[in-house]
Amino acid sequence: MNSYPSFPKAINEPVKEYRPKSPESVAVLASYKTLYTQNTYVPLTINGAKITTQAKGEMRPPHDHQHCLGHYALAGKKEVEQAIESALAARIQWSRLSFEQRATIFLRAADLIAGPYRAKINAATMLAQSKTIHQAEIDAACEFIDFLRFNVQFAEEIYAEQPNSGDGVFNRLSYRPLEGFIYAVSPFNFTAIAGNLSAAPALMGNTIVWKPSDHQMLSAHVIMEVFEEAGLPPGVINMVMGDPEMITNTVLASPDFAGIHFTGSTFIFKSIWKKIGENIHQYKSYPRIVGETGGKDFIVAHPSSNEAEVATGIVRGAFEFQGQKCSAASRVYLPKSKADAILAKVKEDLESISMGSPEDFSNFVTAVIHKGAFDRLKEAIDAAKNSTEVEIFHGGNYDDSKGYFITPTVLVTTNPNYDTMERELFGPVVTVYIYEDNDFEATLKLVDQTSDYALTGAIFAHDRYAVEHALVALENSAGNFYVNDKPTGAVVGQQPFGGARASGTNDKAGSKLNLLRWVSPRLIKEPLLTPKDYRYPFLGE
Ligand code: NAD
Repeated sequence: MNSYPSFPKAINEPVKEYRPKSPESVAVLASYKTLYTQNTYVPLTINGAKITTQAKGEMRPPHDHQHCLGHYALAGKKEVEQAIESALAARIQWSRLSFEQRATIFLRAADLIAGPYRAKINAATMLAQSKTIHQAEIDAACEFIDFLRFNVQFAEEIYAEQPNSGDGVFNRLSYRPLEGFIYAVSPFNFTAIAGNLSAAPALMGNTIVWKPSDHQMLSAHVIMEVFEEAGLPPGVINMVMGDPEMITNTVLASPDFAGIHFTGSTFIFKSIWKKIGENIHQYKSYPRIVGETGGKDFIVAHPSSNEAEVATGIVRGAFEFQGQKCSAASRVYLPKSKADAILAKVKEDLESISMGSPEDFSNFVTAVIHKGAFDRLKEAIDAAKNSTEVEIFHGGNYDDSKGYFITPTVLVTTNPNYDTMERELFGPVVTVYIYEDNDFEATLKLVDQTSDYALTGAIFAHDRYAVEHALVALENSAGNFYVNDKPTGAVVGQQPFGGARASGTNDKAGSKLNLLRWVSPRLIKEPLLTPKDYRYPFLGE
């Protein structure tokens, strides 16, 4: 109000270490125990009201699937329609609220997560998505906080971008929110993404119908709690769970549907895009379609690479969070001269890794998200066992008696187009293809052409000509490209994230580019002295 406020400068939230018995470890384990035993019920949130329903879904930790954490409400068509009405009604006030007020709510949310909610949101993510404490901390705490703080800074930069004003004229751009409401559909794998898919458009003045993943409900619940405690007014973000197809069809049938912010698998995104196309004549405006989807992310090692660096890239890049990051390395190309040494180091590392519940901090990997994922991975491993084109170099075991556990698995194939070199498996299975050293160039072509996706990729090489060469040859093979580093772990404000081809619309979450999708600028021109005579000077007296 009557000022251009200087918002707090965004800096990346420091990652806490969680050493045994540290205060942060004690706090998160206490919170884990509470959430494990307290039997949580997650209602729908519509216009700020908590709606319980007869129908309900169950929440179970993937690493302990016999235990029920509680239930969540399931919306019917009526509740989805109410959520849409609520978003449209809230838009009237929210879109006119000053940026200063909107920003303060999300900055408060960031500080709540950094402080009083840190243990709870991390514990919920450990339980709902089976993340180790480190994986929960870098996602649910740090990345989410970074999204919330950096988005304020990016929005400020957008609002400050103004046209020139010529002599006697005052021009300005007003970055209006989209006309209508936004549909946010989030995946299971990142609590930060689940929060940001709603928070980013809401910060720009939009109101939201949010459909979280069924496999992330406990942490989705904490996200809503934080937004509400931060002061988010009723109706700005409405959370509905239930049959994804019914919810989506109901949302896409609304003439006021103004855009979708989606993260999830490629097939689902394409099917939503198709429905939007089919409904295009009924919308009041062209909906914005933003989707970050699947990947088949690669690591290519050049003969000049360092064996230990490549092996570490594979172990961290392929197996952290059980390979369930969209950016996880899942196909690897090694030069024959170095393959044995690299693979030996990978094996040595994997043998030192333990797997189990995230409650035990000594575990590096835990369970995969659900039975569907477990079955998909089991089938791929069994097929590899029966194939003459593949050797199971490491792992290959699975056990779902207590949780959905898949041993980190390394397959080595002689066929660069073997199924698991092309298909997104989304789990702790990496496939390696060994190439002749002097086939580096042909291998780059192979990397580029093997998969439909183009999300992340990495080149390991100490020869700078090779690095340069790979950057050119793989220009369109990845939206996030890494040199001598694992292809995962993008940090908000540092590595804007997203891919093209089948991997999405590449609208770069965690950057200004993403926020631009949620505004529709209006240009306002005003002469300072308005002409009073139509005659130009050239017409003479
Ligand atoms: P998913 O596609 O199964 O689910 C994503 C969301 O879509 C969920 O909310 C789900 O309920 C909903 N959904 C399911 N069926 C639907 C339907 N018929 N209509 C409308 N919505 C529907 O994905 P997931 O298993 O939760 O997440 C893993 C996938 O997400 C992987 O493919 C991964 O690569 C991708 N992902 C991509 C990024 C990225 O930035 N590119 C980030 C995270 C995850």
